[in-house]
Amino acid sequence: MIDLHCHSIASDGSYSPTELVAMARGRGLAALALTDHDTVAGLPEAETAASTADPSASLRLIRGVEIEIAFEPGEFHLLGLDLAPLFDGEGQPANFGAERLLDALERLGMARDERNRQIMDNLREAGVPVTMEELTEAAGGMRAGRPHIATLLVRHKAAKNRQDAFARFLAKGRPCYEAKECLPLEEAMSLVRGAGGLAIVAHPLSLFVSWSHLEKIMDGWKEMGIDGIEAFHPAAKLGQCRRLEKMARDRGFRVTAGSDFHGAARPERRLGKTAGDLVIADSYLAEIAR
Ligand code: AMP
Ligand code: ZN
Ligand code: FE
Ligand code: FE
Repeated sequence: MIDLHCHSIASDGSYSPTELVAMARGRGLAALALTDHDTVAGLPEAETAASTADPSASLRLIRGVEIEIAFEPGEFHLLGLDLAPLFDGEGQPANFGAERLLDALERLGMARDERNRQIMDNLREAGVPVTMEELTEAAGGMRAGRPHIATLLVRHKAAKNRQDAFARFLAKGRPCYEAKECLPLEEAMSLVRGAGGLAIVAHPLSLFVSWSHLEKIMDGWKEMGIDGIEAFHPAAKLGQCRRLEKMARDRGFRVTAGSDFHGAARPERRLGKTAGDLVIADSYLAEIAR
């Protein structure tokens, strides 16, 4: 069993990279890709944890990232899988490609901080007395996002639960929402490939376009140089995943599968399992081979 898509506390997951590596070993995974949203901050810790000798369970840590792409009407996420080492022995960017990716993610991070401040301003104007100090604390030293703000809204009893916090305040179209700076697909693809990774479109059904429209968009991705499609994702039904797989194979794409594990934040998702509770077989490693 392997997993090619999961999140740590470096973005909106609930486990540290070290805990994720331990869980993956505990479940007997042969490989795990850490793919935090718009950040690679969890990778050094994950790599250290995975390289620590454990004779009972060797684990291949796959460096990854999940970059949000500017797109309407739905959400577009691009996975960068199996990146080359990003840092040299002195903790400096390993090469020009690594430096470009790190710079772009840092810029997105600063834009995210500014957006958080705006959302928090909006919430105070709406009468919820949230503070930036609380947000920093909720994010545990990592970069905050809307899931952390949702936690504050529950704590302030302005929402029943995190889902309710999104529905009332934070989701797109709700009163306190602010748009986030996203990269164009071409730029994100070039950053990922420049850093030695494969550019894989995550969970294509979140684009929220018709099947016939998706076929045309996929043709464009192939022309552009996108490497693969994450056909198997737990937000889709198994039949939909198989349909995506066929569309991707017909066009010569690599096909990947992931759990999009977030820990307690989404307890129904399990490391190493994807749509329909399907175990992600080791054979998917061949899909990211070069
Ligand atoms: P951000 O990157 O700060 O915009 O936060 C995006 C994250 O918020 C997603 O990865 C989800 O975990 C969560 N999220 C987005 N929309 C919703 C929603 N409608 N309900 C619950 N969680 C959501
Ligand atoms: Zn997430
Ligand atoms: Fe995603
Ligand atoms: Fe994800």
